[in-house]
Amino acid sequence: MDLTSEFPSPQATALQLSLLFALAVLAQWLLRAWLASRQIRHVARHRHQVPDAFARRVKLAAHQKAADYTLAKGRVSLLDMTLSAVVVLAWTLLGGLDALNQGLLDLMGTGLAQQLALLATFAAISSLVELPLSLYQTFVLEQRFGFNQMTLRLWLTDALKSALVGAVIGLPIAALILWLMASAGPLWWLWAWAVWTGFNLLLMWVFPSFIAPLFNKFEPLADEALKARVSTLMQRCGFEAKGLFVMDGSRRSAHANAYFTGFGHSKRVVFFDTLLKQLGCDEVEAVLAHELGHFKHRHILKRMLLMFAASLAGFALLGWLSQQLWFYSGLGVRPSLDLALGQTGAGIGLGNEALALLLFLLATPVLSFFVTPLFSALSRRDEFEADAYAMQQADGAHLASALLKLYEDNASTLTPDPWYVSFYYSHPPALDRLARMPAPSTTST
Ligand SMILES: [Zn+2]
Repeated sequence: MDLTSEFPSPQATALQLSLLFALAVLAQWLLRAWLASRQIRHVARHRHQVPDAFARRVKLAAHQKAADYTLAKGRVSLLDMTLSAVVVLAWTLLGGLDALNQGLLDLMGTGLAQQLALLATFAAISSLVELPLSLYQTFVLEQRFGFNQMTLRLWLTDALKSALVGAVIGLPIAALILWLMASAGPLWWLWAWAVWTGFNLLLMWVFPSFIAPLFNKFEPLADEALKARVSTLMQRCGFEAKGLFVMDGSRRSAHANAYFTGFGHSKRVVFFDTLLKQLGCDEVEAVLAHELGHFKHRHILKRMLLMFAASLAGFALLGWLSQQLWFYSGLGVRPSLDLALGQTGAGIGLGNEALALLLFLLATPVLSFFVTPLFSALSRRDEFEADAYAMQQADGAHLASALLKLYEDNASTLTPDPWYVSFYYSHPPALDRLARMPAPSTTST
């Protein structure tokens, strides 16, 4: 009689997890590759002709540039998704994380310092692995289509600054969370979640005033005519902001944007200088009205609450998983059991907090990928709501012409694959958005 089939051993559960995880990574890769190749074929098929709806407004050359840019990005994404699947497997089932952990244990012994070193070296190695593709994207792909404005020197300073800011902010919060995991008892995950949430709120508050200025210059909007238009619009919408700023986005990229940042009374509106260069006054007003629509409909607040709820569920799940031996061995690492079992009832997590955290960060995106379409759909619905609001508060014809200009200047394709759109697109395609707007204005001040 085979008893093992009735009472699965920890080894059997671990083996099942390994198998399931490998299958999930493969399924994710297949789905991503299928969607990317659909997008590539769809855009290539429509490359020769501007879609009828845009025929009068968009030149063939611009349409073809957008197609070529989309195709080039699509090919890079095939490489990117393959690399990330290999990297996830290399860290987990192929033993990368285990080797790193054991090496650091030999070097430093057990303790908080070793755990922090594990997190830091993991982060450093991950960025090094991503480096070549990131360089290629900026200096080959973006360069070829005329979007890159960065010098190698600026790119390097950016990378150094980000690493420094990441270490200064990240290490203390990581140390605090590791300490809570080890010392706050069975409900540590609740405390850790509270700390994490508080930290994120703090970051939103300090980001505009302290972190963003490390990377860009922010100057008060000087254009008086535009300032008057924007202020009237904001009053009309009952919106208070501490200031209107222009950011030197053109230092890095020709892509244009506008955004709100901060919350409460530290809210500010930031225009990329590239946006102000491309759009007329009426159009900037319409774009801002769209952004105000997101505020009026509380999209940002809702997204924040959703994020906090999701991270609560994540921490609770981590709290449970970190106590399961099969979670470690199933994902290719050996936890330090002598440490954990040395203290009665302390559980497997003890001494293995950083391992649990990293395994969780590696494994969950593989699964959460499959709910991407749900979040994309919610986001597209929000965009329609913001468009509708913008058409009430500003001129819809100018919103339409701004949208068309931004599509053209950013070389966004007008003919995306519908499956690709429903899976990934956070914004509805141009055709769907313009269908709900008046005809694009031909004049703009
Ligand atoms: Zn929007």
